[in-house]
Amino acid sequence: MGRPTKEQIKEYALSRGLDLFGVANIERFKDAPIRMHPASIFPEVRSVIVVGRRIVRGGWRGIEEGTYWPNYSYFNYSGLLNTYFLQLPLYETACFIENSGYEAVPLYSGGPEAEPPVEPLRPGGVPPDVWLAIRIAGVAAGVGEIGWSKVFLTKRFGPRQRLAAILTDLELEPDPLIEPNSICKLDMACVRGCPGAIPHIKEGKFIEISIEDKKYRWADVDMGKCTLIYHGGDPRVSPFIPKALPGYHFDVMKQNVSEETAYKFCWPMSTREWRKTAEHPSGYIIEGHHYIQYWGQGGLGIEGSRGCMRSCFDYLERHNMIEQTFKNGPFIRRKRWLLDADGNIVE
Ligand code: SF4
Repeated sequence: MGRPTKEQIKEYALSRGLDLFGVANIERFKDAPIRMHPASIFPEVRSVIVVGRRIVRGGWRGIEEGTYWPNYSYFNYSGLLNTYFLQLPLYETACFIENSGYEAVPLYSGGPEAEPPVEPLRPGGVPPDVWLAIRIAGVAAGVGEIGWSKVFLTKRFGPRQRLAAILTDLELEPDPLIEPNSICKLDMACVRGCPGAIPHIKEGKFIEISIEDKKYRWADVDMGKCTLIYHGGDPRVSPFIPKALPGYHFDVMKQNVSEETAYKFCWPMSTREWRKTAEHPSGYIIEGHHYIQYWGQGGLGIEGSRGCMRSCFDYLERHNMIEQTFKNGPFIRRKRWLLDADGNIVE
């Protein structure tokens, strides 16, 4: 097979089930930190291909109605979407590129976003682990932009996709960058729907990056609160906590912790075992969370992005700001539910 064109690779990738495709040249990463730079993984990289697959809107239906949880973690989060639905066509696209004699490095986007304090394995080299900021790569490849909520947005699906990437030494024509705030118009639907992480950004704080002549900016989201809320540490968004821990009161809004500290607290509480007793016969600390993670192939998305995804795409659909809309009208059709810090229903 001769040298494939970008159009041939894109056509192949989409035919395998991917929904989104874009290319960045390596020059667009010139300001990336060394432990997040694609060339720290593959020094000869010339192009970064970013692909995406949609999160189906119905994946959130059960959580939005407050009736059914397993679907989201299993199909749409770190279960099948991140580990299989997205990765199989990604891998096949990497094979397609390598058939032409160019090297293709498929990158799993669900890896830990951590930079452990370790020495490089070669003198003067880059220490492990390197990870690519996949949302920033998506911006660099012209696939979309990062919304105020720090979630990646596209014109087709709004916030409803997961991304992955291929690094290759094949030189490809980069796609045009998306104009900043051409999808996120800063209408703040995400802030209104979020139970506490976006409204509590430090006053006036935001993250800003430049790629070529464009500046992209998003809120410096309180990731400690977001992690507690999303990953099973907040009784307001989990009916499983009051059931497993009767009498427990935990006010996320009074916590001021880092993302790492939040994980250290809520992840073991959600997934680990304690002894079996007459009072708690299952032996799991929070039985519901344990099974959602177990059925979810390792993913644990208890809160289901109430604001930054559900409120956001509901708003974008209502205002005809994204391409995919639905015959049955807006996603949010009933009064939304939120419990209190004791896990009681609030009228
Ligand atoms: S995941 Fe939930 S808590 Fe975190 S930013 Fe999104 S809506 Fe807010």
